[in-house]
Amino acid sequence: MASDKKDYYEVLGVERSASDAEIKSAFRKLAKKYHPDLNKDDPNAAEKFKEVEEAYSILSDESKRKMYDQYGHAGVNQGASGFGGSGFGNFGGVDVDLGDIFDSFFGGDSMGGFSSFGGRGQSRNRKTRGSDTIMRIKLSFDEAVYGCDKKIKLDVVEDCEECDGEGGFDSKTCPDCNGAGVIIQEQRTILGTFQSKSTCPRCHGSGKTFKRSCNNCHGQGKVRKTKTITVSVPAGINTSDRLRVSGKGNPGTNGGENGDLYLEFIVEDHEYFIRKDDDIYIEIPLTITEATLGAKKTIPTLYGNLKLNISSGIQTGDKEKIRGKGVDNKYRGHKGDMYLVYKVYIPKKLSREQKELFNKLNSTNLETSEIHDFDRFVKQNG
Ligand SMILES: [Zn+2]
Ligand SMILES: [Zn+2]
Repeated sequence: MASDKKDYYEVLGVERSASDAEIKSAFRKLAKKYHPDLNKDDPNAAEKFKEVEEAYSILSDESKRKMYDQYGHAGVNQGASGFGGSGFGNFGGVDVDLGDIFDSFFGGDSMGGFSSFGGRGQSRNRKTRGSDTIMRIKLSFDEAVYGCDKKIKLDVVEDCEECDGEGGFDSKTCPDCNGAGVIIQEQRTILGTFQSKSTCPRCHGSGKTFKRSCNNCHGQGKVRKTKTITVSVPAGINTSDRLRVSGKGNPGTNGGENGDLYLEFIVEDHEYFIRKDDDIYIEIPLTITEATLGAKKTIPTLYGNLKLNISSGIQTGDKEKIRGKGVDNKYRGHKGDMYLVYKVYIPKKLSREQKELFNKLNSTNLETSEIHDFDRFVKQNG
């Protein structure tokens, strides 16, 4: 992951297998230890406290914990609903309060009940990098094996062109917070009464108000757009592989850079080629005479057809390896092999002539050592 965030389990000092009770108890201990109003000695206490409450908010929530276990920080980015396609997909309705949406996308502070301890107001004005998002992309077998330029539709958020990202025109200092963007409040919690800062509701933390709000972006300074980007997918990508598209995640706040977008691939099956990592398996159907006598066969490979001499006496299930004809994986820097898996097909219908020939064959001795041994066993058994 691009983010240098600490592992949540490490933050709480618990095992990955920790029970809910263990997580809760670890959180209580650390919350007391680092709460900025209880711990005045450690200058990093506030920062640590934030880490602890963030870790707890994820690990105490069953579904968020699952996502985190599977995808790391990208799976549980606050506010981002990047899974399953576009991050903005659920917010299309006009009757949704835009302020809330932009809060959850740009605030990054949507940690629920714990967010009011210190920091929130300050972080409003601090440059913050946007969170990473994940998008799942389907690829055909060929697109994955040979690589491709994949066009991907993204919902992106950009500065509003009308107001240059300001959100309005003719700005003046916010009268409610005198430009601080923050309002100080007293708050009672289980740990005592604390002073906390919260974002000024009038200016949403910007410290400014406008004479005229921008209609194009509803005062948010950002607008949502659908953009198509082309991603160069290297040959050999496989299901669950990820590519990072830098700067296409959620937007940062206060001029902070965008997060990254991770593309996670799902590769479709091929009708004949079966892929196992970088090796390719293919079933080669043989007639009974081809299997018995051997044959010249044309074999499809990822790199065109191949003429092959098949030796005599092939059994169903026999395998043959063709070195270097598997997937040339540029993503992992590895080349796989190809395996021919033979299958003998016994005819179900015979012409009169074929039947005669088989009867003739039957009068000769076609017994193999296996059949001979089996017959001997049958005799002993009786
Ligand atoms: Zn204000
Ligand atoms: Zn605007």
